Amino acid sequence: MHSSDSSPRQTTLSHSSSNSVADAVSNSVSKPQETGKAPINWTNMILFTVTPALAVTLVPAYGWFEGYDAFEWSMFAVMMVFCGMSITAGYHRLWSHKTYEAHAAIRFLFALGGAFALQNDVLNWASDHRRHHQHVDNNDHDPYSAGRGFWFSHIGWILRHYDSAKDDFSNVKDLQRDPIVMWQHRNYLLLVLVMNIGLPAFIGLLHGDIIAGLLLGGLLRLVLSQHATYFINSLAHMWGTRPYSDNSSARDNTLLALITYGEGYHNYHHTFQWDYRNGIRWWHFDPTKWLIHSLERVGLASGLKRCAPDKIERAKLERQFQLAAQKCEHLAVEGDWRSRLEAEYEAILHTVQQWAEHRQAWYEAKGKELQEHLSHLEKQQLKAHYLEFKYKLKLQKQRWQLVVQTLATPEPRIA
Ligand SMILES: [Zn+2]
Ligand SMILES: [Zn+2]
Repeated sequence: MHSSDSSPRQTTLSHSSSNSVADAVSNSVSKPQETGKAPINWTNMILFTVTPALAVTLVPAYGWFEGYDAFEWSMFAVMMVFCGMSITAGYHRLWSHKTYEAHAAIRFLFALGGAFALQNDVLNWASDHRRHHQHVDNNDHDPYSAGRGFWFSHIGWILRHYDSAKDDFSNVKDLQRDPIVMWQHRNYLLLVLVMNIGLPAFIGLLHGDIIAGLLLGGLLRLVLSQHATYFINSLAHMWGTRPYSDNSSARDNTLLALITYGEGYHNYHHTFQWDYRNGIRWWHFDPTKWLIHSLERVGLASGLKRCAPDKIERAKLERQFQLAAQKCEHLAVEGDWRSRLEAEYEAILHTVQQWAEHRQAWYEAKGKELQEHLSHLEKQQLKAHYLEFKYKLKLQKQRWQLVVQTLATPEPRIA
């Protein structure tokens, strides 16, 4: 089980103490990728072949002959969520992007959950992920570039020693100062074994069926939770819309959000990666956001970062402008559509600016410091102005949508 995996940062069973030896071995066998396929990472190749194969055979077979009860399915569900959220709220939004700060107890739980999910240690995962954002879609530097296809970005990149996924912790120096991250890094292999085999077996033993515990809580949970995460690297870069930016292949996809604890709003995430939310509207299915918010309410998380709403509006409008212009060009719309589009665009940007200023003034007035210096009347005026511009923006957005739609629709030809 000692990893071979030295170089590929996303090696699931990486153990730091083995790195120097493994690195040497790996470097000696690595050949330039141009001359052929990268060398196979046998640890991962076996792991990612054997576990799904066992999951689709042993789990149903045992269910058929022995059956699983409600407690066992409940444990499976709890473990799925624990693994999934340790990755999304911990590995991803806390450690990779620093979108908030978390109490040591929470970081400890996320470190355990990450080892449970068998997605490599925090240091490797975050290093890969920061590189993914920095070089997104660059086939030479993005470790799981979607430009290399579904299979590669989903799991292929883990199965071979690709140059694009070489160990380089220079981008996670801040994380090396987190004692919990380093403790997990040093003890990763042990934690993997304890969490993936010890914990399900122990719970199964207490409940009276070790095998059922291992099959549901160990095997099936492992395979499903891993592939749910991998969909964010593959499908979330291929299937969905790009409402905020086309600077990367990242897509917003509500269906994917349902199985990835809210990470399906991936276009937003790649546009505003420092925001602790991925789904920004209250109805967006983003349980990771709700978890972080709840942790803040009970004092276990702080410093939650949110992108300013006017910045989000501007990004969306710029994208809509760009799409409308492309459509007009594509449809060879006659007349001076560009001037009209630009005029409307400038007008709505102006309203966004006014709305943002009044919003800021109202929010500041609500703040404690200002509260004592403002009369009730002044506060009400600020609120009224804010609401006025909020409404004005709403109307202007409707007008903008109408303009965009009508401009990009060819006029019916009258015979
Ligand atoms: Zn990210
Ligand atoms: Zn991505």
